[in-house]
Amino acid sequence: MKKRILFLSLFLLTFILSGCTEKRAEAQAQLAMQKEENLHEVTTFAMDTVMMFHIYHEDGEAILIEAEQEIRRLEALFSVTVSDSGISQLNENAGSLPVDISDDTHAVLTKALEFTKLTDGAFNMNISPIVQAWGFATDEGNRVPTDTEIEALMPLTVSNGLVLEDDTAYLQEVGMSVDLGGIAKGYTADRIVALLEDAGVTNGWISLGGNLYMLGTKTDGALWELAVQNPLDSTDYVGMISISDASVVTSGGYQRYFEEDGKTYHHIIDGATGYPAESGLLSVTIISENSTKADALSTALYVMGLEESLALWRVEQDFEAIFITEDGRVVATEGIAEQFVFEGSDNDFIYEVAEK
Ligand code: ADP
Ligand code: MG
Repeated sequence: MKKRILFLSLFLLTFILSGCTEKRAEAQAQLAMQKEENLHEVTTFAMDTVMMFHIYHEDGEAILIEAEQEIRRLEALFSVTVSDSGISQLNENAGSLPVDISDDTHAVLTKALEFTKLTDGAFNMNISPIVQAWGFATDEGNRVPTDTEIEALMPLTVSNGLVLEDDTAYLQEVGMSVDLGGIAKGYTADRIVALLEDAGVTNGWISLGGNLYMLGTKTDGALWELAVQNPLDSTDYVGMISISDASVVTSGGYQRYFEEDGKTYHHIIDGATGYPAESGLLSVTIISENSTKADALSTALYVMGLEESLALWRVEQDFEAIFITEDGRVVATEGIAEQFVFEGSDNDFIYEVAEK
């Protein structure tokens, strides 16, 4: 499964780097000069995924060492597989004791609760016991839990099971647990972008397992271009987004799944059913200056489906989205439409723009 995630991330980045139009050649020549002087790149494995950094700065090497240390620090707080992480401690002490938490853990839990409220529970980090029952929390193998098992776990997934105070957090019942898989990479991306900006980096991009943040523009002033993957074909894409200073995060059932008896089960769980979400969507891409929000909303909107998601977008200001539906539509919200070039008609996708 990890191999697949790696492949998809690399596929996306190949597009960012190589692009797909000739007009890039000119820009690339200019870029190449600066690249030689100031480009610094690192690829590392953290938070169960491949992370890549691509920044332009004369002290880039030292800055990226700092960035990597920051990633390790946050991983040690948020991981559910590292047994002494803040989140593991919280989970292990469920139903018995509040645990001390760091400022970052407090911040990410606060954000997660905020998005739970905003999405009416579609974003639910307390879904963890069910994520585990499906075998998505570890590498130990996926399985389809019985209905009885899911029913028994449902009461442990209520989002008010978590009591968050200034310095402590507490899960009220034995068996409750939280899983930051739907938000931790976005939060980490925001921290890393702040670190890079503080260090004076104005151009570059980071990819935390496909959770992207494009900093400034390319060195020649052109916008960064990203391919939005065709969820039905990992070698294909449905269009290109051009952006600067924004995070782009995609969630989809095609990113992590298993098959049993001819049926496919993926890793984004609908808290209302305890089953992988079936909302009529194949993928949701969120574009926002805030990567924490982009990450949480990509997961939540995938659960909510197109109509509910558009209703939320109409009342929220600071994000745009591109939805790919099971019935073959690519729907862009109007705030991103001008920066999105649809290229999915060859594959019978139909393009629509959603208005406020
Ligand atoms: P990725 O696996 O690419 O990070 P997402 O950001 O969509 O994808 O997060 C999916 C992960 O979030 C799952 O693997 C699981 O750990 C957790 N999760 C699953 N369902 C939900 C949900 N309804 N709300 C919040 N987190 C969820
Ligand atoms: Mg997410």
